Amino acid sequence: MAWGHRLATVTPRDGRGFALTFDDGRRADCDLLVGADGARSAVRPLLTDARPSYVATLVELTVRDVDRRHPDLADLVGPGNLWCVGANRILAAQRLGDGDLRVGISSRAEHRLHGKRELLALFDGWDARLTALIDAADDAPVPRRIEALPIGTRWTHRPGRTLIGDAAHLMPPVGEGANQAMLDAADLAAALAADPADPDAAIRSYEAAMFARTRPIAEMSARVQAMMLSPTAADDLTRFFATGPTG
Ligand SMILES: Cc1cc2nc3c(=O)[nH]c(=O)nc-3n(C[C@H](O)[C@H](O)[C@H](O)COP(=O)(O)OP(=O)(O)OC[C@H]3O[C@@H](n4cnc5c(N)ncnc54)[C@H](O)[C@@H]3O)c2cc1C
Repeated sequence: MAWGHRLATVTPRDGRGFALTFDDGRRADCDLLVGADGARSAVRPLLTDARPSYVATLVELTVRDVDRRHPDLADLVGPGNLWCVGANRILAAQRLGDGDLRVGISSRAEHRLHGKRELLALFDGWDARLTALIDAADDAPVPRRIEALPIGTRWTHRPGRTLIGDAAHLMPPVGEGANQAMLDAADLAAALAADPADPDAAIRSYEAAMFARTRPIAEMSARVQAMMLSPTAADDLTRFFATGPTG
């Protein structure tokens, strides 16, 4: 095991396995390659041409030491999360374990949300007690592209390689990705341990079960993400909690 090495290239070896090179020049060989390298997986192209596409923009801000410096905001957010849902936009805040607040602004305004002024303009007319979350932020806003793989991404089994987690099924972030990633890891490990003499049979059975398990979750995640950033998100969300995801 070697931490802290960024995989740069993967080359199939003659016969079986792969030669790996890392960005610091280090090299390694492996017989079985499990891509657990997230949304922009370097291993994924060995199995599929599927590429993530844009879903939304999440701009992150941090309010440090919130209890001492902004007790009003600490009270507003409370011990967990605060979600304020508007038309095509969300203002959310989460208390972190270190006493900071992580503020997240989601919208579909790709490339346009770089400064506090643009963010405040997005929430023009909102209650000042809510936009204070933006005013109080300590560092420059950090915009992040939220992406997802096409729903139902799958591949034909190829020997000696597979994917788990976001590398396999990057979904809109509505609360499932980490759970599915951990389940993938446990299922793959169990399949390999149950059939150590035939790792490709184990990978085949893992992949079949993973594709079937994650497809409906990716569909649900896309539906919830679209609902959360819709023009009628607040009403839709109320209905969702009253009647369930298909209501
Ligand atoms: C805003 C947001 C909120 C979320 N909220 C939730 C939630 O509430 N619940 C939930 O279940 N999920 C949530 N998720 C999704 C969750 O974070 C991911 O699904 C999960 O982290 C995927 O785990 P992973 O191990 O597959 O990928 P990652 O956590 O992305 O880990 C991949 C690792 O691979 C490393 N890596 C990448 N490229 C290389 C390379 N070339 N060489 C070596 N290493 C590499 C990275 O450094 C990283 O350490 C959220 C995601 C976002 C963006």
